[in-house]
Amino acid sequence: MALDFLTGCFGWRPTKLSRASEKHTRGWIWALKLVLVIPCAIAAFGARDSYLRVQRHPELSQEPYNENVRLSLLLTYIGGIAIFPWLFISSALLLQWQGPWILLYGLVDFGLAITLAVGVGLQAEFLPGSFKGCNFPKVEGWQVAPGQKSMFALAAELDGNSTAKGVCKGMVSAWTLAVSTLFFQMLVAYVGIFFDEREWSILNPMRPVVWLIVALIGPPIIIHDRLFPKIRLTFSYLKKTFFRMQFTRDVKIEQPPQFKPPYEFFQVSNPKLMDVLIIEHVLLNIVDYMHYEDVVNFSLVSRAVREAVFPPGDLVHRVPKLKERCCEAATKKGCLYCNKRICFWCKAQRFLPGLPGRRHVTTCQPYCRKCYYHHFARHPRGYKKPCKCRITDRSHEFQDMCRACASKDPVQMQTIRHKRYQQEARDIGYGRRVLNGEAVKVFCGCCKGELKSGIRWWVCGKCKGECRDAIHPPYVGKRRDRDVESGENEDEKTEEAKEPWWRKWSAL
Ligand SMILES: [Zn+2]
Ligand SMILES: [Zn+2]
Ligand SMILES: [Zn+2]
Ligand SMILES: [Zn+2]
Ligand SMILES: [Zn+2]
Ligand SMILES: [Zn+2]
Repeated sequence: MALDFLTGCFGWRPTKLSRASEKHTRGWIWALKLVLVIPCAIAAFGARDSYLRVQRHPELSQEPYNENVRLSLLLTYIGGIAIFPWLFISSALLLQWQGPWILLYGLVDFGLAITLAVGVGLQAEFLPGSFKGCNFPKVEGWQVAPGQKSMFALAAELDGNSTAKGVCKGMVSAWTLAVSTLFFQMLVAYVGIFFDEREWSILNPMRPVVWLIVALIGPPIIIHDRLFPKIRLTFSYLKKTFFRMQFTRDVKIEQPPQFKPPYEFFQVSNPKLMDVLIIEHVLLNIVDYMHYEDVVNFSLVSRAVREAVFPPGDLVHRVPKLKERCCEAATKKGCLYCNKRICFWCKAQRFLPGLPGRRHVTTCQPYCRKCYYHHFARHPRGYKKPCKCRITDRSHEFQDMCRACASKDPVQMQTIRHKRYQQEARDIGYGRRVLNGEAVKVFCGCCKGELKSGIRWWVCGKCKGECRDAIHPPYVGKRRDRDVESGENEDEKTEEAKEPWWRKWSAL
């Protein structure tokens, strides 16, 4: 087919639509033209009558009446009188020449429609919208100052043989028919211009429909998909930047004073036993049948026993071994409050309020900016509302702990534990999570990518909503090893102080 540029040029190509049928196009044109014949003829002759009247009496188109009366009637008359024969001519031509010729007929139809449209539009300025406006006495004073004769009244007077109401009704009915003619003429022009049956053609019949849909739903989609997420992200940024000011320092963790048994008063009464205990595998065999707490208590018997069980020089290696050997292997775990080994047989249980920090440290995941944008700021399908799990965080539950912790004041104990959770959450924010006593790097919970410094978002592992709890650092600065840097002078610090706090915690 000719007119190849319609399917795209200079590398640009319109989107693909379904293939149309030229046969249908022709069918529609003929059908619409058939519908047009009668209203078009009546409208044309109605406009002609009115036009000739104004022609005879030019004062009808002068002050105080609308100056466009004559022009509008002329255009309607020309439009109607041209459309009428063209209906038959174009129908005959369509029989003979098709394809791109349909576009030409469509353009002619469009030109005629424009002519008619201007005439009809101008008439609307001085005609009442319906026959109601032609009723007495409204019609006598239509669009003139009180006391003046309306255009219809003057026309009736000049004609001599009609009333103002009659003139008005005649003009309004001709105008109504011209409007319906215009409507069908526009449809004919549409079908003619968008004639191309090719899928990629810019003149595919469905093209304007697609444009219309895009124009109608495009802006809301752009706003919903692009603008709102950006606003949400910016808002989140601002909020987190603001809270960053309040959340810059590390949590102060007070180490509970360590119990110091009065070794000075102990005497080694059985040095032979000590000699045996010093041998590690013998000690570990004994420990096999003990609970960790018993081992700790056992070590308190005397300084010598303590040094045999927990040799100060070898604590790093001895403690894990003891932890591994004592207590029942299947049910062994750390005390919730002090992390000492406990098992089913040696644990104590208390009914206490839950610890909110635990959920944030164990299940909440950091999200990078990109993932937060895609999974939360955009409100995608299945998007979860911000986390509300805190409601159930403090509900009472049975907690397993060592017997020593079970005898402590629960409020104080929980406060200390929460501070440790805060520090842990902070460390996770800085990219370090402690798993089984070893630090592992933290990655984005979604894309598993490296987390850069900057604003950080958190997602609850329980409900998958965004976690906005203050326990999570909203902002993470440049990666730094806080544990080493925090002191003024490194040389003054002891080896122990240089160690990360969690090492001490996990070594208990
Ligand atoms: Zn045990
Ligand atoms: Zn404990
Ligand atoms: Zn959280
Ligand atoms: Zn993602
Ligand atoms: Zn949640
Ligand atoms: Zn990510």
